Amino acid sequence: MKKQTPPFSAAVLAWYDAHARSMPWRAAQGARPDPYAVWLSEIMLQQTTVVVVGPYFEKFLAAWPNVEALAAASLDDVLRAWAGLGYYSRARNLKACADLIVAELGGKFPEEEEALRALPGIGPYTSAAIASIAFDRQANVVDGNVERVMARYFAVRTPLPTAKPELRARAFELLPATRPGDYAQGLMDLGATVCTPRNPKCSACPVASSCLAAAQGIAAELPMRAPKAAKPLRRGAVFWVQRDDGAVLLRRRPARGLLGGMMEVPTGPWGEEALTTQDKRAHAPLDLEWELLPGSVRHTFTHFHLELEVYAVRAGRVGAVEGEWVEVSRLEDTALPSVMKKVVRHVLAGLDS
Ligand code: SF4
Repeated sequence: MKKQTPPFSAAVLAWYDAHARSMPWRAAQGARPDPYAVWLSEIMLQQTTVVVVGPYFEKFLAAWPNVEALAAASLDDVLRAWAGLGYYSRARNLKACADLIVAELGGKFPEEEEALRALPGIGPYTSAAIASIAFDRQANVVDGNVERVMARYFAVRTPLPTAKPELRARAFELLPATRPGDYAQGLMDLGATVCTPRNPKCSACPVASSCLAAAQGIAAELPMRAPKAAKPLRRGAVFWVQRDDGAVLLRRRPARGLLGGMMEVPTGPWGEEALTTQDKRAHAPLDLEWELLPGSVRHTFTHFHLELEVYAVRAGRVGAVEGEWVEVSRLEDTALPSVMKKVVRHVLAGLDS
């Protein structure tokens, strides 16, 4: 523990007191935030922006105002409310974490990083953020904003991701013992609003007088990044079967893997090569005369682009088949991942035209 607040953190704290961003999950100045709200916002913010998360956070808090209410909710309701935020494993972990906290921890979040990290869906960054923001613990909270501030403040020219350990160590050196939770949020806000990726506003920055990148005139060039590998394209086929009564066949994806446990319009495997006619027959949910609809559905996941051919068929009487039949007008309310919502829109637009 440091005995004195170093000048860097003092400058960040003073700046934060004057310029803190207003966010729905933040407590008023001087008040202690609700750990449940901090945890919920941090899980939602993993891989998603503050602007996108705001309405989802408010919707969740209105439906489930505390961890007990979330634990009492059904997983399908939670997944449905989550639809659009992507990465559904986070929603499943959110629910598992709420269940565990209520069942085993008396509804109380642990205050230490290590104990937080043992919970579902909480990794090193999120445990540090919750310990710091909710419980004012001296934790090293390093997100992309903080990495950028460190790379510039210390003029680190090593490209990301190689520079990550060095940037973490630099951030650790600067951690104050005083108001660590406010400091963590202040540093993130500074990165998000002043030390921005493009056109950093050094003239408005509270640490400009000691910033090495500003002194050397290289702020906008940092942090350097190793060139990214292009995302590969995967292809697949999706099968839309609609009965005469209007119901559409959906089925649940396996619990493990991408979009695990989510409902889908039945699809075959996704691979680099387009499926052969024989493969398509083998993976179609029913042996029927499938019609290929014009166009395709494209969706981008973190590590690859996906292009789906869409096959459709109208069926009268259908025998037993894996999955469930959902009235087409209820598809909007079904917890479908974004890629499947695109499939639904594509088919309905094709059938309308
Ligand atoms: Fe970033 Fe400029 Fe502030 Fe340095 S002076 S931390 S480059 S905004």
